[in-house]
Amino acid sequence: MAHLNPTNQVIVVGAGIGGLTVALGLAKNGFQVRIFEQAASLSEVGAGLQLSPNAVKVLRQFGVADAVGQHVFSPQYACIRDYQSGRYYLESPLGKHIEQRYGAPYWHVHRADLHKELVQACYAAGVEIELGHRVLGYRNEKKYATVLMDKKTEHADIIIGADGIHSKVRELMLGVQAPIFTGQVAWRGTVPAAAIKGATVQPNATVWAGPNKHLVTYYLRGGDLVNFIAVEERAKWQQESWRQEGDVNELRRKFIGWHPEVSAVLEACDSTFLWALNGRPTLEKWHDNRVVLLGDACHPMLPFMAQGAAMAIEDAFVLTQTLLKYDYHFAFDKYEALRKPRVTAIQKQSRDNAALYHMHGGWQGRMKLQALGLASKYASGIIHAKLDSIYGFDVTSLSI
Ligand SMILES: Cc1cc2nc3c(=O)[nH]c(=O)nc-3n(C[C@H](O)[C@H](O)[C@H](O)COP(=O)(O)OP(=O)(O)OC[C@H]3O[C@@H](n4cnc5c(N)ncnc54)[C@H](O)[C@@H]3O)c2cc1C
Repeated sequence: MAHLNPTNQVIVVGAGIGGLTVALGLAKNGFQVRIFEQAASLSEVGAGLQLSPNAVKVLRQFGVADAVGQHVFSPQYACIRDYQSGRYYLESPLGKHIEQRYGAPYWHVHRADLHKELVQACYAAGVEIELGHRVLGYRNEKKYATVLMDKKTEHADIIIGADGIHSKVRELMLGVQAPIFTGQVAWRGTVPAAAIKGATVQPNATVWAGPNKHLVTYYLRGGDLVNFIAVEERAKWQQESWRQEGDVNELRRKFIGWHPEVSAVLEACDSTFLWALNGRPTLEKWHDNRVVLLGDACHPMLPFMAQGAAMAIEDAFVLTQTLLKYDYHFAFDKYEALRKPRVTAIQKQSRDNAALYHMHGGWQGRMKLQALGLASKYASGIIHAKLDSIYGFDVTSLSI
């Protein structure tokens, strides 16, 4: 059985957060890593990301946390509030409290800032990033794997498909299967904090819960920007693209009558993108001989636990460690076995949160939110138990 050693060559497909993180981890451990990215330039969407302690621990291990930490905002509380009255259903401390409890901070970061720091760290670690190359196919050969791109063909010992929810590598491995539209769309955007008039956005990660909709607000870049994600249930997604420019006026109309903090953010917004939120059933396998999947390519999830990128980052750590220790066959088996139960559980929790945030079941839905609030006040152990398994999980101390 072929045995990989750190001087072996790795091709990563996709320079998203997952692809860059695994490239960084492997390159720092002596692998020769090349990334092929279809986009002509390195950039990220203008939106925020919540990075929980479990993800920050990996960034620390890979030596990039200090650089990322210069761009972040540290929220004080995670809140669920009523869409009209602003009443707090839940107010759970983040800030120092979470750092003490889990040994790492909870951050809000602009995706472009995280992306930029990962790219710089990759270059410093010797990763080659080639842009404008769309991967169209792969082949497992006896002694190497081949990547077929629109403009050229390349070989490596292994290939990592980190090419997102519409992954070509996944399609080649498991067949064509369109992602499933979850019946929800998300508008995303950022607004300069100084442009928001008539209300003060609280320094928290706030979910504004309402019937069949919710909206999340939080600060980025030390408080200079406010990020919003507005989610609405819809029967269909008719557009061909899964992301399109959104109509700000339509967005405002959808959230008319919501709390003044929400209205003030949407009033100050001058552009937005609209995303179809898609999912996939659990894949039967994540690897095929010398080729393996990572991040959204193998486990996309609804953003309602804010864990999609965090899971890609955790994947990157586990894949790096298994490849350092074992031959690639066993490494890929072990990686899938270690990661699948965790990401599958978080996919489910994310789906469940949609029903909670959207007050499904009318008054019963509100009762559930109220019960959550009571639990957080008088039985905080229940809330912690839910979050400990996610934020308190330290992938860097796993025995691999
Ligand atoms: C509304 C919303 C809010 C979210 N909020 C959070 C949050 O707060 N916290 C969190 O942790 N996660 C969040 N997520 C999830 C997170 O954005 C994703 O899980 C994460 O970006 C996945 O990273 P990835 O590297 O796997 O894929 P991607 O970021 O999709 O990267 C894939 C890369 O592969 C490239 N590519 C694709 N096909 C090819 C090809 N054929 N050849 C070459 N290159 C290719 C793409 O151009 C892209 O650069 C959110 C998602 C959404 C939609």
